[in-house]
Amino acid sequence: MKRSISDLGPEQLSGRRALVRVDYNVPLDESGTVQDDTRVRATIPTLEALRAGGARPVLLSHLGRPKGKPDPRFSLRPVAPLLAKLTGAEVLFVDAADSDAAADASRSLTDEQILLLENTRFLPGETGNDPDLARWFAALGDLFVNDAFGSTHRAHASVVGVTEFLRPAVAGLLVRRELEALGALRADDLPRPFVIAFGGAKIADKIQLLDFFLERADSLLIGGAMANTFLRAAGHPTGRSLVEEDALDLARSLLERGGDRLVLPTDLVVAPAPDAAEDRVTVVDATGIPDDQAAFDIGPATIADYGSRIETARTFFWNGPMGMFEQPAFAAGTFEVARAAVRATESGAFTVVGGGDSASAIHQAGLARAVSHVSTGGGAAMEFLARGSLPGIEALDEAG
Ligand code: ADP
Ligand code: MG
Repeated sequence: MKRSISDLGPEQLSGRRALVRVDYNVPLDESGTVQDDTRVRATIPTLEALRAGGARPVLLSHLGRPKGKPDPRFSLRPVAPLLAKLTGAEVLFVDAADSDAAADASRSLTDEQILLLENTRFLPGETGNDPDLARWFAALGDLFVNDAFGSTHRAHASVVGVTEFLRPAVAGLLVRRELEALGALRADDLPRPFVIAFGGAKIADKIQLLDFFLERADSLLIGGAMANTFLRAAGHPTGRSLVEEDALDLARSLLERGGDRLVLPTDLVVAPAPDAAEDRVTVVDATGIPDDQAAFDIGPATIADYGSRIETARTFFWNGPMGMFEQPAFAAGTFEVARAAVRATESGAFTVVGGGDSASAIHQAGLARAVSHVSTGGGAAMEFLARGSLPGIEALDEAG
């Protein structure tokens, strides 16, 4: 286990500057307004705990992919007023994280203030994990807190390098919660049946996960475009469906190894195109997608089957939508999986949703709070599940 802020005593917090790496990679509109504040809200418990202990937060984050130089489209400035509203603190903003102004502001912070520094990716050394930049970052705090779960798979200066020069280096509450929830899915003695629903676009993106869980889960329910690739690999016609041609061999070997544990849809919702009129949307047998049709969702029989397997699971993990859920005509499978996950949770199962689009689907369904955990880290969560660790986690202090 890694040390977290909860393991620090008052002498390690009181009056100290806590350099916190957060993930404020928020969507901005053209006028620079924050469109979705989920990522900012997710860090509030950590900031409150630090401030309650007397620490003064200095925040580092990236936003978007500026190319190692300042770019006003990716400024973190719009986050400052939002953070002030959510914390009740006075939020100071300094427009260069590597400036003397940033260092001065960190040293003169009061208990009522939080310091937010400009986008770390405006600095050329961030993504290259430059040791000079890492040493500079380290001088902005008296302890380091990683609460940027979505960035912990990146060996960047503000995530990994900084820990070379600053201790204690501990997990924030958000990171701790992610490690606990995702770690539980990797445990050998987890409650069974352990059911997984895998969907989304590409097998190749998820091969490490499929590989790891194929041996561990009791059933893997396949949906989304991924199902088309498996159906084709099993020798069935897939019409105009999205199929990953270069993953067919991979799919065949997964089918062989998975046996009965790998469950494919028995019926599918098809249409000639994703924007087809409602009366062109039909349900077909999964083994017979017509030549002029493409599959965009799992069908009603599959929904019923997957739903009953999910609601009787004692551990459930879901990654990847069951269909093109952005279109209402093809959202039923995805939203039903979300509802089945809620029923499982109500029966005492441990249920986790991970993946950018799956997380946004369950938020859209209004059910994110009704499952055990919705991971905030897309790529980071996938990599942690497959490998059991991440560069930004390895860099933190061990507990005890
Ligand atoms: P996550 O982000 O949860 O890991 P992915 O990124 O792998 O999920 O996949 C999500 C995308 O897959 C969505 O944009 C969705 O529209 C698409 N998708 C799902 N099923 C299909 C399908 N049958 N045909 C085409 N696209 C699909
Ligand atoms: Mg995605």
